[in-house]
Order: sequence, then C-alpha cells, then structure tokens
Amino acid sequence: VHVEKDSDLMHIVHVTAEMAPIAKVGGLGDVVTGLARTCLSRGHKVAIMLPFYECIQKQHISDLELITSYSSYHDGNWIACNAYRGLVSSIPVIFIEPSNQFFKGQSVYGGSYNELEAYLFFSRACLEWLQVTRLQPDIIHVHEWQTGAVPLLYWDMYHHLSLEKPRLVLTIHNMEYYGECSQEQLSKCGLDGSTYGTVDKAVDDRTIGHNPERLSLLKGGIVYSNAVVTVSPTYLNETLCSGWLASSLIRNRDKYSGILNGIDTAMWNPATDVFLPAKFHANNIEGKRTCKRFVQVGLGLASEKGLKNGNQVTDKVPLVVCITRLVAQKGLHLITHAINHVEKLGGQMVVLGKASDVRVEREFEGLANLYNQGSSVRILLMYSEELSHMLYAAADIVLVPSIYEPCGLAQMIGMRYGAVPLVRKTGGLADTVFDMDDHSQPEKANGFVFEGIDEGSLNSALDRAFSYYGEKPNEWIRIVRKVMEIDNSWSNTAGKYINVYNSIRVRR
Ligand code: ADP
Repeated sequence: VHVEKDSDLMHIVHVTAEMAPIAKVGGLGDVVTGLARTCLSRGHKVAIMLPFYECIQKQHISDLELITSYSSYHDGNWIACNAYRGLVSSIPVIFIEPSNQFFKGQSVYGGSYNELEAYLFFSRACLEWLQVTRLQPDIIHVHEWQTGAVPLLYWDMYHHLSLEKPRLVLTIHNMEYYGECSQEQLSKCGLDGSTYGTVDKAVDDRTIGHNPERLSLLKGGIVYSNAVVTVSPTYLNETLCSGWLASSLIRNRDKYSGILNGIDTAMWNPATDVFLPAKFHANNIEGKRTCKRFVQVGLGLASEKGLKNGNQVTDKVPLVVCITRLVAQKGLHLITHAINHVEKLGGQMVVLGKASDVRVEREFEGLANLYNQGSSVRILLMYSEELSHMLYAAADIVLVPSIYEPCGLAQMIGMRYGAVPLVRKTGGLADTVFDMDDHSQPEKANGFVFEGIDEGSLNSALDRAFSYYGEKPNEWIRIVRKVMEIDNSWSNTAGKYINVYNSIRVRR
C-alpha cells in the first residue's frame, strides 16, 4: 500500500447520494466507497456525507452515534437536523437526518418527497454541518447533479461565512442526468436563483433559446468546482464531442480530466467473498466451477441428479450473465436479443436486472414468463447484492452491451471473478476491454468487443466467444486467468485523484 508523506496528507469529505453497500443503486455507490477506502489506506482523513435514508439497514453501520443537532435552511424555514457518525465497512460516514419527510421511503430514490428539493436541502445541510462543526477539510468531493449545488453554495455563500479552506471537486458519473432545476427551486436552498440564469453560470448552452428559467445543477457544478472529473478517458472525449454540456466542458477543459474508476477489491474478491459457495483465485479456479454448478442447480438450469449421473452439459455450455439497471443506456434491445441468441447457440443466460420504468418492467416480466420455464435462461427482476456476487463468480461471460457507458463496473468486477467480458465499444468499456481477435495489441486482448448498436454486431461477438469456449478450452482457461489478474483496483487509479486534489488544495 502506498502511504503519503505527512505533509501530503489531506482531509477529504465526499458529499454523495449513494454509498455501497448501504445505499447503492448503481456504480456511483461503488465508486465512492472504493475511492474513500483507498484514500484512507494511504493515510488521508476521509469521511462520506450521506442522507440518512430511511431504507438504510442500520445493522450495516457500526459505532453509530448522534454527534450534532443543528438546523439547516430550506424554503424559508430552518429545518432541525441530526448528524450521526458511524462506520460502514470501516469507512467513517456522516449521516444527515432532517426532521421533515425528505429521504423517507423504501428505496434510495423514488420516495414520495420532491427529490430535487431534498438534494438541494442535503447539499446545503452538509456545508452547514461543516460550518457548525468548524471543520475545514482540504477537499469537498461532490458527485452527480444531486450534489451539484454544493460548489455554488460554497463559493457564493459559505466561503463568505467561515468555510475558507476547502476546494471543490465534482465527479460526473453520467452526463445524461443533469439535474434540471427552475430558478424558483434553486432559491429554496437560500441562493438567489435568478442570478444563475446565464450560460456562464448554471444554464446549459443547449437549452432552447438559453432559457434562463431552466438551470442545470450539473452545469452549475462544472462552473463552480475547482476540478471536474469524469469516469474514463474515452467518456471524457465523448462528452467533449457531443451531448449535453459539451460546450461548457470545452470551455472548462483546463480543469476537466478523465480518471478510470477502480473496483473495490475488498468488497469484490473471489478469494474471500462470503457470498460464494466456494472461493477461488487466478492460480486455482476449481472453486469457480463449483460456483457455476451451484448457480445452475439453484436456478434450475441443471439438476443435482443429472450432475451426479454425469450426464449434464453444465461445464460444456457457457453461462452468460448480465447484471444491470434495466434502462435504455444499457442497450435493452441488445440484452433481449442476446437472450434469444444465446439460447439459439445452446448456451445459458441469466439476467439480473431492475427496471425503474413500468413499461420496461412489464416487457421484461413478459420475457421472464416466457423464458424462465425453459432450461437455459433465467430473468431475475430484482436488485440483489448477494446474487450479483454469485452470478459474477458463476459466469463464463459477462455481457455489457451498453449504448453508452461512462465507465462501467460490471465488466471489471466480472473480470476479477473470471468472467470474460463481452462488451460494446463505448466509454469506459473501450478503455478496459480489448478484443481477442484484434491482433494489433495481443498483450491487451482480454475479451470480445463489438461496435454497432445492431443485433448483427452483437451476434458476431457472441458467436466468436462461443466458438472460443467450445473449440479452444485451454485458450479459454488462459483468458479466464488473465482477466482475473488484471489490476482494475482503486490502488491502481486513486493516485490520479490524489494528484487532482493536490493540484487545487490550499497549502498553509
Ligand atoms: P451504473 O452505475 O450505470 O448502474 P456500473 O456498471 O458503473 O453501472 O455499476 C453497476 C453496479 O451496480 C455494479 O456493481 C453492478 O453489479 C450493480 N448492479 C446493477 N444492477 C444490479 C442488480 N439488479 N442487482 C445487484 N447489483 C446490481
């Protein structure tokens, strides 16, 4: 482990809507936990500030204690809040619990309160807490639109009060969610919303007629942060070329960089993973076969009896898994097509996915009813951390056919668990997966890549993967070992964040 010199040690506070495993919806939660853990291990002081969602299971928090009762402003009132401190897998977390309805409900997102207002409130409540407690961290690291107002509130309000030292970093995990906000809504956190209605503050260049009424919290965050990071070098280029906020990012190019996410290797380690029926590592992958059988039997893709009689095809057919939020970005038509094509090729496939849109949910429920009765496909429509670990361990192939993918963790986690990635060439997928048949850089080759968004492109990658699996078993095992040994950990990449922090911090 790399440990910094004393003079290089920093105090870093993350302000975020998600944290794995207690409040995780997608990759954002994993990133915050993994980066925080690695910075802690290098000797920095790190804390994560998180809304105290009602859905958080308190048994995952140790040493939970109330540390501060204070008030924070919202919409003309001062709302009483409690700040709790606790440890989540050894990482210090500050939970902010307002006394109103915000963050109540059964899930992280989608409660019956107004989400935009709740996060505006949370953004201010975090700065208010830092002020009340007189902490002066070196870095306040905010993530996504939910906390995009923090840099505005900091430079236009708290920096004029008593918060002096902190400098701001914004990480954009996904440009599509830009936090549209009216001036009136922004005013609810105590800023004068009408002063942000320009392109050089919080209006996206793309809004029709530069409508000063339609602000973007992400845009404001870009303008007001000292450094802006997105989650892979290829996605950085994509965001500068087209899409929302491209011209804003070009104007802020000097402070904008792309840093590939890592994976949290404490949480994702097939040699120690408590969710697995058998552990394994690159030098001994026998346990992976056990995991595959366990999943196949558990999901009815193979029977115990058949296994005993040795007349099962379990090892001979590749198992493809796809673990994802079921949203358009993830290539839904390609996922449904893959189900069909894998079955045609005689393989097995498991989809673990959760939809937030009712129409998508219905569509996949329809598919589940159709396929789950057969013996080669299982479509599981839920969020399950435990199942995700087992499926990565059981998989021969991890499928990530995204239309766009800022970084993507599924392919990296899959690799660590010996699942060969099959991905569309976009964003972070293009930075982490290199085709087996691309002979220009054989040392990097670690999976199967296709470019088009059409079904034919996916088919040809699946066909190639299946023929490798079927016809070159020794070669396949070599790739499995190779992908397991690739270092996509935070220890490999956190240093780049530290460099960003160092480039903007105030040294006294
Ligand atoms: P995104 O952040 O867009 O959701 P990433 O690939 O960056 O995509 O991160 C997804 C993370 O969420 C991975 O850790 C993946 O295993 C997990 N995940 C996604 N869907 C599910 C699900 N239905 N059940 C369990 N874990 C899931």
